[in-house]
Amino acid sequence: MKRQFSAERLDVRAFAEDAAELAGSIPLGSLQRLAAEARGPVEGRQVDWSAQGELRNAGHVQPDVWLHLQAQALLPMTCQRCLEPVDVPLEVDRAFRFVADEDTAAAEDDEAEEDLLAISRTFDLPALIEDELLMEVPVVPRHDVCPHAVPLSVADPGFEEAAAPEHPFAGLRVLKTDRS
Ligand SMILES: [Zn+2]
Repeated sequence: MKRQFSAERLDVRAFAEDAAELAGSIPLGSLQRLAAEARGPVEGRQVDWSAQGELRNAGHVQPDVWLHLQAQALLPMTCQRCLEPVDVPLEVDRAFRFVADEDTAAAEDDEAEEDLLAISRTFDLPALIEDELLMEVPVVPRHDVCPHAVPLSVADPGFEEAAAPEHPFAGLRVLKTDRS
């Protein structure tokens, strides 16, 4: 008989033993920490995800429990170059190995190349998906190519400097120039 798995309360070991798969979509608005990073409406946006369980060294006394996770979303943000809206693609494709508990995960974390998590029979997969997507949110979101010329950048090279976010004091310099 095939076991049924729930993303919200995932029995991670059983999921790996069955080499099971789950996939779904989560409304972006229901992932509140991620939605808080949005700079535009999130209605109708969703996170698409899929997960696969894998048991390695199945014949071993303590087989390795793995979870492979893929997730993607388009997060509405503000381009820091042209200040227009930009949809930032967030993409996660990562493998996790589950160990006995948090202490083991912390102890082995430095040596392991993969990410380690504490095993659980009621693992909250949507929370992991949100954690991973949050790590992909860029500090300085930008268009690859801005749809319009950056405003005020054409005529005066001083303005271009002032508009660049890399120079936080450029604005002050412009103010001083105006006064003189
Ligand atoms: Zn832009």
